Amino acid sequence: MMATNLDKNVKALQEVWRREENASCADCGKPDPHWASCSLGVFLCLDCANIHCNIPSINNVKSVRAECWEEGQVEFLVQHGNAKAKARYEAHVPVYYYRPVHTDCLVLREQWIRAKYERKEFMEPGKQSSYSNGLKDGILWKQGRDNRQYLPRRFLLSEREGCLKYFTKHDAKEPKIAIKIDTVNAMFQPEKTGHPNGLQITYLKDNKTRNIFLYHEDGKEIVDWFNAIRAVQFHYLKVAFPVACDKELKGRLTRNFLKEGYMEKTGPRQKESFKKRWFTLDHRRLMYFKDPLDAFAKGEVFVGSGENGYSVLEGLPDGTQGSFTWQYGITIVTPDRDYLFTCETEKDRQEWVAAFWHIIKQPMTPQEYAIEAYFKLKP
Ligand SMILES: [Zn+2]
Repeated sequence: MMATNLDKNVKALQEVWRREENASCADCGKPDPHWASCSLGVFLCLDCANIHCNIPSINNVKSVRAECWEEGQVEFLVQHGNAKAKARYEAHVPVYYYRPVHTDCLVLREQWIRAKYERKEFMEPGKQSSYSNGLKDGILWKQGRDNRQYLPRRFLLSEREGCLKYFTKHDAKEPKIAIKIDTVNAMFQPEKTGHPNGLQITYLKDNKTRNIFLYHEDGKEIVDWFNAIRAVQFHYLKVAFPVACDKELKGRLTRNFLKEGYMEKTGPRQKESFKKRWFTLDHRRLMYFKDPLDAFAKGEVFVGSGENGYSVLEGLPDGTQGSFTWQYGITIVTPDRDYLFTCETEKDRQEWVAAFWHIIKQPMTPQEYAIEAYFKLKP
Protein backbone atom coordinates (compact mmCIF):
# COMPACT_ATOMS: atom_id res chain seq x y z
CA MET A 1 0.00 0.00 0.00
CA MET A 2 2.74 2.47 1.03
CA ALA A 3 4.87 1.58 -1.97
CA THR A 4 2.02 2.17 -4.40
CA ASN A 5 1.31 5.61 -2.94
CA LEU A 6 4.96 6.57 -3.16
CA ASP A 7 5.11 5.40 -6.76
CA LYS A 8 2.00 7.40 -7.54
CA ASN A 9 3.59 10.47 -5.95
CA VAL A 10 6.82 10.07 -7.89
CA LYS A 11 4.91 9.65 -11.13
CA ALA A 12 2.72 12.70 -10.52
CA LEU A 13 5.79 14.77 -9.58
CA GLN A 14 7.61 13.69 -12.75
CA GLU A 15 4.60 14.70 -14.81
CA VAL A 16 4.34 18.22 -13.41
CA TRP A 17 8.12 18.62 -13.56
CA ARG A 18 8.08 17.76 -17.28
CA ARG A 19 5.49 20.41 -18.13
CA GLU A 20 6.81 22.99 -20.59
CA GLU A 21 6.25 25.89 -18.14
CA ASN A 22 8.52 24.19 -15.58
CA ALA A 23 11.42 23.58 -17.98
CA SER A 24 13.36 26.57 -16.67
CA CYS A 25 13.96 28.08 -13.22
CA ALA A 26 11.08 30.30 -12.09
CA ASP A 27 13.47 32.98 -10.82
CA CYS A 28 16.47 33.12 -13.17
CA GLY A 29 15.37 31.16 -16.24
CA LYS A 30 18.18 28.60 -16.11
CA PRO A 31 17.04 25.49 -18.03
CA ASP A 32 16.36 22.15 -16.36
CA PRO A 33 15.62 23.08 -12.73
CA HIS A 34 15.96 20.20 -10.27
CA TRP A 35 14.52 21.80 -7.14
CA ALA A 36 11.03 22.83 -6.14
CA SER A 37 9.48 25.09 -3.53
CA CYS A 38 6.69 23.29 -1.70
CA SER A 39 5.22 26.54 -0.38
CA LEU A 40 5.35 28.63 -3.59
CA GLY A 41 4.76 25.81 -6.07
CA VAL A 42 7.67 26.67 -8.38
CA PHE A 43 10.60 24.78 -9.89
CA LEU A 44 14.05 26.22 -9.24
CA CYS A 45 17.69 25.77 -10.16
CA LEU A 46 20.12 24.83 -7.38
CA ASP A 47 21.44 28.38 -6.97
CA CYS A 48 17.99 29.92 -6.61
CA ALA A 49 16.93 27.06 -4.30
CA ASN A 50 19.89 27.99 -2.09
CA ILE A 51 18.72 31.60 -1.95
CA HIS A 52 15.20 30.45 -0.99
CA CYS A 53 16.75 28.35 1.81
CA ASN A 54 18.24 31.49 3.35
CA ILE A 55 14.94 33.39 3.48
CA PRO A 56 12.92 32.08 6.45
CA SER A 57 9.51 33.17 5.15
CA ILE A 58 9.82 31.20 1.91
CA ASN A 59 12.27 28.49 2.90
CA ASN A 60 10.60 25.25 1.85
CA VAL A 61 12.59 23.75 -0.99
CA LYS A 62 13.20 20.16 -1.86
CA SER A 63 15.10 18.28 -4.53
CA VAL A 64 12.80 16.86 -7.21
CA ARG A 65 14.87 13.71 -6.86
CA ALA A 66 14.37 13.50 -3.07
CA GLU A 67 12.99 10.21 -1.81
CA CYS A 68 10.05 11.31 0.24
CA TRP A 69 7.52 13.62 -1.29
CA GLU A 70 4.23 13.87 0.56
CA GLU A 71 1.08 13.60 -1.46
CA GLY A 72 -0.03 17.08 -0.37
CA GLN A 73 3.25 18.63 -1.56
CA VAL A 74 3.02 16.98 -4.96
CA GLU A 75 -0.63 17.97 -5.27
CA PHE A 76 0.31 21.58 -4.47
CA LEU A 77 2.89 21.60 -7.27
CA VAL A 78 0.35 20.05 -9.67
CA GLN A 79 -2.06 22.88 -8.83
CA HIS A 80 0.57 25.62 -9.17
CA GLY A 81 3.79 25.61 -11.23
CA ASN A 82 5.92 28.36 -12.73
CA ALA A 83 3.29 29.90 -15.03
CA LYS A 84 0.78 30.51 -12.23
CA ALA A 85 3.50 31.85 -9.95
CA LYS A 86 4.60 34.29 -12.65
CA ALA A 87 1.04 35.52 -13.13
CA ARG A 88 0.70 35.99 -9.36
CA TYR A 89 4.10 37.25 -8.17
CA GLU A 90 5.19 39.13 -11.33
CA ALA A 91 1.82 40.67 -12.20
CA HIS A 92 3.04 44.28 -11.87
CA VAL A 93 6.78 44.25 -12.56
CA PRO A 94 7.56 47.69 -14.04
CA VAL A 95 8.90 47.48 -17.59
CA TYR A 96 12.24 49.09 -16.61
CA TYR A 97 12.76 46.77 -13.60
CA TYR A 98 15.83 44.61 -14.09
CA ARG A 99 15.05 40.87 -14.19
CA PRO A 100 18.20 38.95 -13.38
CA VAL A 101 19.48 35.91 -15.25
CA HIS A 102 21.50 33.01 -13.90
CA THR A 103 24.87 34.60 -14.62
CA ASP A 104 24.06 37.80 -12.69
CA CYS A 105 25.62 38.49 -9.30
CA LEU A 106 24.08 37.24 -6.07
CA VAL A 107 22.69 40.58 -4.83
CA LEU A 108 20.57 40.98 -7.98
CA ARG A 109 19.27 37.41 -7.89
CA GLU A 110 18.60 37.43 -4.15
CA GLN A 111 16.79 40.78 -4.20
CA TRP A 112 14.65 39.68 -7.15
CA ILE A 113 13.53 36.64 -5.15
CA ARG A 114 12.96 38.72 -2.00
CA ALA A 115 11.08 41.40 -3.95
CA LYS A 116 8.80 38.81 -5.54
CA TYR A 117 7.97 36.48 -2.67
CA GLU A 118 9.05 38.08 0.59
CA ARG A 119 8.12 41.73 0.00
CA LYS A 120 5.49 40.89 -2.66
CA GLU A 121 6.44 44.07 -4.50
CA PHE A 122 4.83 43.11 -7.79
CA MET A 123 1.52 41.61 -6.70
CA GLU A 124 -0.27 44.94 -6.83
CA PRO A 125 0.56 48.26 -8.51
CA GLY A 126 1.95 51.09 -6.42
CA LYS A 127 4.21 49.07 -4.12
CA GLN A 128 7.36 50.16 -5.97
CA SER A 129 7.69 53.66 -4.58
CA SER A 130 11.32 53.22 -3.49
CA TYR A 131 12.42 53.34 -7.13
CA SER A 132 9.42 54.39 -9.21
CA ASN A 133 8.64 57.98 -8.25
CA GLY A 134 11.51 59.70 -10.04
CA LEU A 135 13.29 60.94 -6.94
CA LYS A 136 15.77 59.16 -4.72
CA ASP A 137 17.92 60.69 -2.04
CA GLY A 138 20.28 58.82 0.25
CA ILE A 139 23.74 57.99 1.46
CA LEU A 140 25.99 55.63 -0.47
CA TRP A 141 29.59 54.64 0.20
CA LYS A 142 31.69 56.08 -2.59
CA GLN A 143 35.26 55.19 -3.37
CA GLY A 144 37.64 58.13 -3.27
CA ARG A 145 39.12 58.93 -6.67
CA ASP A 146 42.74 58.69 -5.68
CA ASN A 147 43.02 57.10 -2.25
CA ARG A 148 40.48 54.31 -2.91
CA GLN A 149 38.92 54.84 0.49
CA TYR A 150 35.15 54.48 0.71
CA LEU A 151 33.36 57.42 2.32
CA PRO A 152 29.65 58.05 2.84
CA ARG A 153 28.28 60.55 0.32
CA ARG A 154 24.83 61.94 -0.29
CA PHE A 155 23.40 61.01 -3.71
CA LEU A 156 20.35 62.56 -5.29
CA LEU A 157 18.60 61.18 -8.35
CA SER A 158 16.08 63.56 -9.88
CA GLU A 159 13.90 62.79 -12.85
CA ARG A 160 12.71 66.40 -13.03
CA GLU A 161 16.29 67.63 -13.46
CA GLY A 162 17.30 64.56 -15.47
CA CYS A 163 20.42 63.97 -13.43
CA LEU A 164 22.24 62.08 -10.73
CA LYS A 165 24.17 64.25 -8.29
CA TYR A 166 26.42 63.67 -5.36
CA PHE A 167 27.58 65.92 -2.58
CA THR A 168 30.84 65.76 -0.68
CA LYS A 169 29.44 67.34 2.46
CA HIS A 170 26.08 66.22 3.77
CA ASP A 171 24.75 69.76 4.12
CA ALA A 172 26.36 71.11 0.94
CA LYS A 173 24.00 73.07 -1.30
CA GLU A 174 25.96 72.60 -4.49
CA PRO A 175 26.68 69.10 -5.71
CA LYS A 176 30.24 67.96 -6.29
CA ILE A 177 29.05 66.66 -9.63
CA ALA A 178 25.77 66.52 -11.59
CA ILE A 179 25.66 63.75 -14.15
CA LYS A 180 23.16 63.85 -17.01
CA ILE A 181 20.98 60.76 -16.82
CA ASP A 182 21.33 59.91 -20.53
CA THR A 183 25.10 59.44 -20.12
CA VAL A 184 24.83 57.25 -17.01
CA ASN A 185 25.39 53.53 -17.05
CA ALA A 186 25.26 51.37 -13.93
CA MET A 187 26.24 47.77 -13.37
CA PHE A 188 26.98 45.54 -10.44
CA GLN A 189 30.67 44.69 -10.07
CA PRO A 190 31.12 42.61 -6.90
CA GLU A 191 34.38 41.00 -8.01
CA LYS A 192 36.04 44.13 -9.28
CA THR A 193 35.07 46.25 -6.26
CA GLY A 194 35.57 43.45 -3.73
CA HIS A 195 32.14 44.19 -2.23
CA PRO A 196 29.06 41.95 -2.75
CA ASN A 197 26.89 45.06 -3.30
CA GLY A 198 29.48 46.97 -5.34
CA LEU A 199 27.98 49.11 -8.10
CA GLN A 200 29.95 50.77 -10.88
CA ILE A 201 28.52 53.92 -12.41
CA THR A 202 30.06 55.22 -15.60
CA TYR A 203 29.21 58.47 -17.31
CA LEU A 204 30.49 60.64 -20.08
CA LYS A 205 32.06 63.98 -19.48
CA ASP A 206 33.48 65.87 -22.48
CA ASN A 207 33.15 62.62 -24.39
CA LYS A 208 35.42 60.82 -21.93
CA THR A 209 34.26 57.97 -19.73
CA ARG A 210 34.46 58.40 -15.96
CA ASN A 211 33.92 55.68 -13.35
CA ILE A 212 32.60 55.87 -9.83
CA PHE A 213 32.37 52.90 -7.49
CA LEU A 214 29.68 52.67 -4.83
CA TYR A 215 28.02 50.31 -2.44
CA HIS A 216 25.38 50.18 0.27
CA GLU A 217 25.47 47.59 3.06
CA ASP A 218 21.83 46.76 2.45
CA GLY A 219 21.24 44.70 -0.70
CA LYS A 220 17.68 46.00 -1.11
CA GLU A 221 18.85 49.62 -0.99
CA ILE A 222 21.55 49.25 -3.66
CA VAL A 223 19.23 47.29 -5.99
CA ASP A 224 16.58 50.00 -5.44
CA TRP A 225 19.14 52.62 -6.55
CA PHE A 226 19.94 50.55 -9.61
CA ASN A 227 16.28 50.24 -10.58
CA ALA A 228 15.61 53.90 -9.74
CA ILE A 229 18.31 54.87 -12.28
CA ARG A 230 16.68 52.57 -14.85
CA ALA A 231 13.26 54.08 -14.11
CA VAL A 232 14.51 57.64 -14.63
CA GLN A 233 16.33 56.62 -17.84
CA PHE A 234 13.21 54.90 -19.10
CA HIS A 235 11.04 57.94 -18.53
CA TYR A 236 13.68 60.19 -20.09
CA LEU A 237 13.80 58.01 -23.23
CA LYS A 238 10.02 57.83 -23.36
CA VAL A 239 9.94 61.63 -23.74
CA ALA A 240 12.93 61.78 -26.09
CA PHE A 241 11.63 58.98 -28.36
CA PRO A 242 7.84 59.09 -28.08
CA VAL A 243 7.21 56.65 -30.92
CA ALA A 244 9.61 53.92 -29.73
CA CYS A 245 8.00 50.89 -28.10
CA ASP A 246 8.73 49.95 -24.47
CA LYS A 247 10.76 46.90 -25.45
CA GLU A 248 13.02 49.02 -27.65
CA LEU A 249 13.56 51.56 -24.84
CA LYS A 250 14.20 48.83 -22.29
CA GLY A 251 17.14 47.65 -24.39
CA ARG A 252 18.70 51.10 -24.03
CA LEU A 253 18.73 51.29 -20.22
CA THR A 254 21.75 50.20 -18.15
CA ARG A 255 23.95 47.64 -19.90
CA ASN A 256 26.69 45.26 -18.83
CA PHE A 257 30.14 45.50 -20.38
CA LEU A 258 30.66 42.99 -23.17
CA LYS A 259 33.98 41.92 -21.69
CA GLU A 260 36.56 43.01 -19.16
CA GLY A 261 40.02 41.81 -18.25
CA TYR A 262 43.76 42.22 -18.61
CA MET A 263 45.54 42.28 -21.96
CA GLU A 264 48.90 43.63 -23.01
CA LYS A 265 49.05 46.46 -25.53
CA THR A 266 51.72 48.19 -27.53
CA GLY A 267 51.93 51.81 -28.69
CA PRO A 268 51.13 53.38 -32.08
CA ARG A 269 54.55 52.68 -33.61
CA GLN A 270 54.17 49.01 -32.69
CA LYS A 271 57.79 48.90 -31.60
CA GLU A 272 57.15 49.86 -27.98
CA SER A 273 57.19 47.20 -25.27
CA PHE A 274 53.76 45.77 -24.55
CA LYS A 275 52.22 46.93 -21.26
CA LYS A 276 49.66 45.10 -19.18
CA ARG A 277 46.41 47.08 -18.90
CA TRP A 278 42.86 46.48 -17.69
CA PHE A 279 40.48 46.57 -20.68
CA THR A 280 36.75 47.22 -20.70
CA LEU A 281 34.62 46.77 -23.80
CA ASP A 282 31.51 48.92 -23.38
CA HIS A 283 29.65 48.39 -26.61
CA ARG A 284 31.87 50.15 -29.23
CA ARG A 285 34.21 51.74 -26.71
CA LEU A 286 37.30 49.72 -25.82
CA MET A 287 38.83 51.48 -22.84
CA TYR A 288 42.01 50.70 -21.00
CA PHE A 289 43.06 51.49 -17.46
CA LYS A 290 46.17 51.00 -15.40
CA ASP A 291 44.00 49.63 -12.60
CA PRO A 292 40.43 48.23 -12.84
CA LEU A 293 39.25 50.79 -10.26
CA ASP A 294 40.70 53.88 -11.95
CA ALA A 295 38.37 56.85 -12.24
CA PHE A 296 39.13 57.42 -15.88
CA ALA A 297 40.54 55.58 -18.85
CA LYS A 298 44.12 56.07 -20.02
CA GLY A 299 42.86 55.63 -23.55
CA GLU A 300 39.97 54.49 -25.69
CA VAL A 301 39.67 52.77 -29.05
CA PHE A 302 36.47 53.04 -31.08
CA VAL A 303 35.38 49.75 -32.64
CA GLY A 304 33.08 50.38 -35.61
CA SER A 305 31.36 48.00 -37.99
CA GLY A 306 32.73 45.65 -40.64
CA GLU A 307 31.25 47.71 -43.47
CA ASN A 308 33.20 50.73 -42.25
CA GLY A 309 36.57 49.03 -42.31
CA TYR A 310 36.86 47.48 -38.86
CA SER A 311 37.84 43.86 -38.29
CA VAL A 312 39.59 41.67 -35.77
CA LEU A 313 42.27 39.07 -36.47
CA GLU A 314 43.92 36.43 -34.34
CA GLY A 315 47.67 36.83 -33.99
CA LEU A 316 50.05 39.76 -34.48
CA PRO A 317 51.42 41.05 -37.80
CA ASP A 318 54.70 39.46 -38.97
CA GLY A 319 57.70 41.27 -37.65
CA THR A 320 56.00 42.78 -34.56
CA GLN A 321 58.95 44.17 -32.64
CA GLY A 322 57.82 45.19 -29.18
CA SER A 323 58.49 42.64 -26.46
CA PHE A 324 55.51 40.91 -24.89
CA THR A 325 54.99 38.29 -22.20
CA TRP A 326 51.69 36.82 -23.28
CA GLN A 327 51.53 34.66 -26.41
CA TYR A 328 47.99 34.97 -27.71
CA GLY A 329 47.83 37.94 -30.04
CA ILE A 330 44.87 39.92 -31.34
CA THR A 331 44.96 42.61 -34.04
CA ILE A 332 42.12 45.10 -34.34
CA VAL A 333 42.10 46.67 -37.76
CA THR A 334 40.55 50.16 -38.00
CA PRO A 335 40.50 52.53 -41.01
CA ASP A 336 43.37 54.51 -39.45
CA ARG A 337 45.68 52.00 -37.82
CA ASP A 338 46.03 48.53 -36.35
CA TYR A 339 45.90 47.95 -32.61
CA LEU A 340 47.90 45.02 -31.23
CA PHE A 341 47.08 43.14 -28.03
CA THR A 342 48.15 39.93 -26.37
CA CYS A 343 46.17 37.67 -24.05
CA GLU A 344 47.42 35.36 -21.34
CA THR A 345 45.40 32.32 -22.47
CA GLU A 346 43.78 31.02 -25.63
CA LYS A 347 40.41 31.05 -23.85
CA ASP A 348 40.82 34.78 -23.10
CA ARG A 349 41.70 35.44 -26.71
CA GLN A 350 38.64 33.55 -27.97
CA GLU A 351 36.38 35.52 -25.62
CA TRP A 352 37.82 38.88 -26.68
CA VAL A 353 37.65 38.00 -30.37
CA ALA A 354 34.01 36.90 -29.98
CA ALA A 355 33.16 40.13 -28.13
CA PHE A 356 34.79 42.27 -30.87
CA TRP A 357 32.99 40.37 -33.64
CA HIS A 358 29.72 40.83 -31.83
CA ILE A 359 29.92 44.60 -32.35
CA ILE A 360 31.79 44.61 -35.66
CA LYS A 361 28.94 42.60 -37.20
CA GLN A 362 26.35 45.22 -36.17
CA PRO A 363 25.72 48.24 -38.41
CA MET A 364 26.50 51.64 -36.88
CA THR A 365 23.77 54.03 -35.74
CA PRO A 366 23.91 57.76 -36.59
CA GLN A 367 24.99 58.50 -33.00
CA GLU A 368 27.85 56.02 -33.35
CA TYR A 369 29.07 57.79 -36.50
CA ALA A 370 29.24 60.94 -34.38
CA ILE A 371 31.31 59.13 -31.73
CA GLU A 372 33.61 57.71 -34.41
CA ALA A 373 34.13 61.21 -35.82
CA TYR A 374 35.06 62.45 -32.37
CA PHE A 375 37.64 59.67 -31.96
CA LYS A 376 39.14 60.51 -35.36
CA LEU A 377 39.48 64.19 -34.46
CA LYS A 378 41.25 63.42 -31.22
CA PRO A 379 44.94 64.30 -31.31
ZN1 LIG B 1 17.53 29.94 -10.84
